[in-house]
Amino acid sequence: MKLLWLHGLSCSGNTQSFLCAENPTAGELLSRFEVLYHPAVSWEADETEVVRKVLTSSEPLDVFILEGSVGPGARKIAGKEFKTVVKEIARKSKFVIALGNCAVFGNIPAKRSPEVKGLQFRFSEEGGVLGKNYRSLSGLPVINLSGCPAHPSWLSFVLLCILEGGKLKLDEKGRPVEIYAYLTHHGCPRNEYFEWKIEAEELGKKEGCLFYHFGCRGPMTHSPCNRILWNGVSSKTRAGMPCVGCTEFDFPREDMFRTKHAMGIPEELPLGVSKRGYILLAGVAKTFAPERLKKRLIDENQ
Ligand code: SF4
Repeated sequence: MKLLWLHGLSCSGNTQSFLCAENPTAGELLSRFEVLYHPAVSWEADETEVVRKVLTSSEPLDVFILEGSVGPGARKIAGKEFKTVVKEIARKSKFVIALGNCAVFGNIPAKRSPEVKGLQFRFSEEGGVLGKNYRSLSGLPVINLSGCPAHPSWLSFVLLCILEGGKLKLDEKGRPVEIYAYLTHHGCPRNEYFEWKIEAEELGKKEGCLFYHFGCRGPMTHSPCNRILWNGVSSKTRAGMPCVGCTEFDFPREDMFRTKHAMGIPEELPLGVSKRGYILLAGVAKTFAPERLKKRLIDENQ
């Protein structure tokens, strides 16, 4: 299977993330493809030559991965504007993968100009560079792997699925449901603190939930960060840093480490929770919270 990986407006964070893949490693996985070009690992191939060949070939391309958003600008490949190159390659690809929040929703570069877009979205707006009705030759829309960056295993899952001829089910944002059906909140070791409404007092500590003061987006962010751990060992919330919602369309937001409140209630509640239900449960939880959760887990003075 032929695979082409191009960079748009990107910090290359998704490449860095993927190079840390384990079981299989990035090298093991890529060796199962004929990698035509990757900006960081193709030492000898010439991007212009490769793109020209892909565009003029009568054969379809199997997998096209785009990392980074697409905007107007001076960048040209094979004499064509980058945006045109992306559209033409997408038209002849069996599978198109938007890797990372820039390629999916536009992300930070899109904050600079309304002309900068992801492949099928610009933040919450459908369309993007390829248009809302775009379908690759396999019949799928763009396979969106949002995240800043996306976890290496998420891309491995999709590539293995393509290699093995498996079926990919996507959510309304084009993201594989096997990965994005979960919330960051699922599997977070701070869940007991969340339930009893015990707030973290400081970042970086093991105790307390980061939802009430520190802006944690775990209960409204689709990502399995606490199920498929980073480097196999950790996640933001495990390390004492709030989830910043980097797999969602509204990332990055202003003031990401603060929970905004209205009349003492967080302005945004966990997905599916009503204001009335929240007020009722929060009051009871706070009143009956176990004393052991209000202490340090390991008391350094003892
Ligand atoms: S820290 Fe965030 S993810 Fe963890 S339990 Fe609290 S709200 Fe959920």
